[in-house]
Amino acid sequence: MSERKVRVRFAPSPTGALHIGGVRTALYNYLFARQHGGDLIFRIEDTDSHRFVPGAEDYIIESFKWLGIKFDEGVGIGGDHGPYRQSERRDIYKKYVKQLLDAGKAYIAFDTPEELEKKHEEIKNFQYDAHTRMQMRNSLTLPKEEVEQLINDGKQYTVRFKIEPGEEVHVHDMIRGDVKIKSDIIDDKVLYKSADELPTYHLANIVDDHLMEVTHVIRGEEWLPSAPLHVLLYRAFGWEDTMPRFAHLPLLLKPEGKGKLSKRDGDRLGFPVFPLEWHDPKTGEVSTGYRESGYFPEAVINFLALLGWNPGTDQEIFSLDELVKAFDITKCSKSGAKFDYKKGIWFNHEYILRKSDEEIAKLFAPIVANNGVDASMERITEVVHMMKDRVNFVKELWPLCSFFFIAPTEYDEKTVKKRWKDYSKQQMTELKTVLEGIDDFTVEGQEPVVMKWVEDKGYKLGDVMNAFRLALVGIGKGPGMFDISAFLGKEETLKRLQRAIDVLG
Ligand code: GLU
Repeated sequence: MSERKVRVRFAPSPTGALHIGGVRTALYNYLFARQHGGDLIFRIEDTDSHRFVPGAEDYIIESFKWLGIKFDEGVGIGGDHGPYRQSERRDIYKKYVKQLLDAGKAYIAFDTPEELEKKHEEIKNFQYDAHTRMQMRNSLTLPKEEVEQLINDGKQYTVRFKIEPGEEVHVHDMIRGDVKIKSDIIDDKVLYKSADELPTYHLANIVDDHLMEVTHVIRGEEWLPSAPLHVLLYRAFGWEDTMPRFAHLPLLLKPEGKGKLSKRDGDRLGFPVFPLEWHDPKTGEVSTGYRESGYFPEAVINFLALLGWNPGTDQEIFSLDELVKAFDITKCSKSGAKFDYKKGIWFNHEYILRKSDEEIAKLFAPIVANNGVDASMERITEVVHMMKDRVNFVKELWPLCSFFFIAPTEYDEKTVKKRWKDYSKQQMTELKTVLEGIDDFTVEGQEPVVMKWVEDKGYKLGDVMNAFRLALVGIGKGPGMFDISAFLGKEETLKRLQRAIDVLG
């Protein structure tokens, strides 16, 4: 067999917002495609009309745009293997359903939901398979004429896969190794439903992977139970030679480590489980997204990449390009990955530190403006430079930094009690005079002069600085005192000092 070009696909069903686990699946497919010089296909698996949710497809596309994950072909992009939306491929599936029927590898079943339910009541653990199919109403048990008559009468039917018992099915998984099961435990899965003239997930998935020349199927662990059936379908079609290799990714677990991560965990602990904000069209419920919560897409990617895979070194910060180089699907863990959302916050902090002050300032500027402050980009950048190491999100800057732009009108009560002493008025009045005499109001210009005055007077440095801070900031926090006064400038600093003296006395 000649080496085929690597082709992988991300194939979501548009049943709602894209879950963060799905984002990781897409990311791993992307990394795998890029590192092998292959193609990444974006396919929409929308054959289950009951679960279709309007807006979900656009939502998924927008999510990847935001994250910077690019597909090579698929819905919204095009390519030689389209259409890429399964609901537009009905005729293709019909042809392959017929192929299986003609070869006797599938059969037509007329059992109504009520009849099936009755069977389930009659027989404990009933399964539609080699042991029971001859008791059912299908093309294996009914005369040929009757089958034709029923179809002509418009009776609804399904096409079921005829699974031969006693076979051993091997799934070669790049993460889990060789998974073996007996074909006996698989039921005769429904492949097609006449009611909506659509195939089920299993048939459409296999036919498309084959026609789209997919070489590797990288998907979530929840699809592992379907894999043996998929292998049998490949065999039934005679496509074993081009059967894709599988990789079933470890589950994402609750932050506490037990059980599958769910949307409720996000609500409970206050973190998003969706890439973008999602407005559920049915319930009207709005769920937060990573984008709207202020995460950088690079931070989300970096965080997700390390959930279930690690490079085997101490390196934690990876650009997308670095991930492409370092990623190794065979080194993914088999066991679930705890969704440590706090680590995601940490990543965002790290990306704030790594981004230039100018870049962060651009994001902070609209927030400053929204608060009614007219400040130059230069001033905003200066503030960002002093403060960005204290925040995890850009939006956290304003509450910490507003005092740079707006003079305090109130003074924190607790801080006043602790920091504004009987002699503070006297000291601050003296400090005002000292500062008035300084022409060079930079940090370097102020610091030695003020320090000398404190020393000459025998004051306690802490007393002076704490009161000074309270006067300029209004609370007991902030960066270095002279950084603040230098930023505010002489006039504003003196004004704030005077006001504190007047108000606090
Ligand atoms: N449509 C399936 C899903 O929503 C795709 C599973 C697969 O990748 O085979 O995840």
